[in-house]
Amino acid sequence: MKKRQPRKPSQTAAGSKRGRLLLVATPIGNLGDLSARAARALAEACVVACEDTRTTGVLLRAHGIETPMTPYHDHNAERARPALLARIEAGEIVALVSDAGTPLIADPGYKLVREAIAAGHEVSALPGPSAVLTALVISGLPTDRFLFAGFLPPKEVARRRALGEVKGVAATLVFYESPQRLADSLADMARVFGPRQGAVARELTKMFEEVRRGTLDELARHYAEAGAPKGEIVIVVEGPAPEDVAEHDVEALLDEALDRLTLRDAAAVVAEATGMPRREIYRRALARGKKGG
Ligand code: SAM
Repeated sequence: MKKRQPRKPSQTAAGSKRGRLLLVATPIGNLGDLSARAARALAEACVVACEDTRTTGVLLRAHGIETPMTPYHDHNAERARPALLARIEAGEIVALVSDAGTPLIADPGYKLVREAIAAGHEVSALPGPSAVLTALVISGLPTDRFLFAGFLPPKEVARRRALGEVKGVAATLVFYESPQRLADSLADMARVFGPRQGAVARELTKMFEEVRRGTLDELARHYAEAGAPKGEIVIVVEGPAPEDVAEHDVEALLDEALDRLTLRDAAAVVAEATGMPRREIYRRALARGKKGG
């Protein structure tokens, strides 16, 4: 194998050292999904901060990358963050990855990014795989507006409350879920959301990729009978029927739109977002006494 050059910190045109933080998306299962740009960035970085050096080690080795790794995960982040920021300050390129997909998406990294920005460091993202978008586009449900709701609380009461909070959101909903809780979560969704369509996307980009579509009730019954499936799972749920969009959501959307748009444009935007007739929204906006433009 080719001998690697000693690593150099990045240089500005003026020759002074300029460190930066790179947020590098990695595959969600298929190692071939690492982009050429991501591979180059990981090879050129001074260090790869990762959740699990064994997991990321497999990826780096598969691409012949020898960059040293350092752990950055939920349990050491408070301690590890100052050291990473100091390395950036000293002119190093720090690449942040997670076990899979895009770092910061249901994964560590948000505070590191926030503090790097606050310290005036350059932060770049190298986009790539994420289970949210992969599941959304494969679900067959509307993609024009969606809400990524992350993981639901594991306990039933908190889970139903969390579902109630997003019930009126006029958008396709995307949740990450564990196989063990899948059937219970689907049953709660059927109860809270009613008869909506859903899709369960499992093992995306991997050999046993599977997408099961149906009403939430059908999906809940299937997984209750079949038992917990193997692998990683995303649940995608159709948004509410227009008449079910919570009244306060329509009013809140209208308030927000009227703050920045003419009455006519605000009505168009809110009608599009809620699926309600534009004439009805226009009538409501007029009733608020704002002049058209
Ligand atoms: N950062 C990742 C991303 O960008 O998608 C997500 C990390 S989160 C800790 C892990 C969760 O993502 C899994 O529990 C599952 O819900 C979802 N996930 C990750 N890879 C997946 C895959 N190949 N198929 C289905 N879901 C996946």
